[in-house]
Amino acid sequence: MHKRLFIALTGAVSALLCLLLGLAWLVPYIGFDNIHPGLSAVTGLALAALLIGIVLVALSVAIQAGTGKKPFGSGLSKLARGISIRFFLPLMELLGRLCGLPVERVRRSFIQVNNDLVAAEVGRFRPAEILILLPHCLQWSGCSLRVSNRPENCARCGQCDLAGLMELVDKYGVGIGVATGGTLARRIVKSKNPRLIIAVACERDLTSGIQDTHPLPAYGVLNERPNGPCLDTRVAVPAIEKALQRFIA
Ligand code: SF4
Repeated sequence: MHKRLFIALTGAVSALLCLLLGLAWLVPYIGFDNIHPGLSAVTGLALAALLIGIVLVALSVAIQAGTGKKPFGSGLSKLARGISIRFFLPLMELLGRLCGLPVERVRRSFIQVNNDLVAAEVGRFRPAEILILLPHCLQWSGCSLRVSNRPENCARCGQCDLAGLMELVDKYGVGIGVATGGTLARRIVKSKNPRLIIAVACERDLTSGIQDTHPLPAYGVLNERPNGPCLDTRVAVPAIEKALQRFIA
């Protein structure tokens, strides 16, 4: 359901771009002939190639998200994920705002499509190549243990979901990191050097994290916020385990 919004916005943004490209071709076409007789044809060909590229990328995103298959091969699949992260997402947030859509809804939809693109694009990894990256607000606010640099300090009392996640780390042998912000998250990613990140966060932090870590694939799992943002947040541990089973070789 969520991903339909992102796919619809991808289509709308692509149609708008194609329209703009059409206009960008038509206007100089009228005047370019006065500069050089071949200039309008060359410009037309370049814009047509760009237009075909946009259509192929939009189609690739929609087909990959819908079917999990890479319709135009691995190269275009990677390119489509990159373009949707760097280019489509900011345009979609803008278009969503203009249409009165809440930005969180657009981001949720993007995260779901990103996950489908990652699942279609990447293969499976050794457990040590996978990193579970968690936000600090997942730790129970009454817990005095310092887990942000050393998640293994968690005593697994069960007051928060870190206990269940540490069980998954033991069971599967994947890496784990708890970050208090973007800077520490980047440092953890740099030091652990994973090939795939399974990230837990809110819509805003997940989208910015996915953008930050690109081209490294990041699979996003939204946290739950029963106490409001950034306080004693939760995550569905079975959803993380399902993602691990999907990506572990
Ligand atoms: S499970 Fe218990 S010990 Fe571990 S971080 Fe949460 S509250 Fe602290």
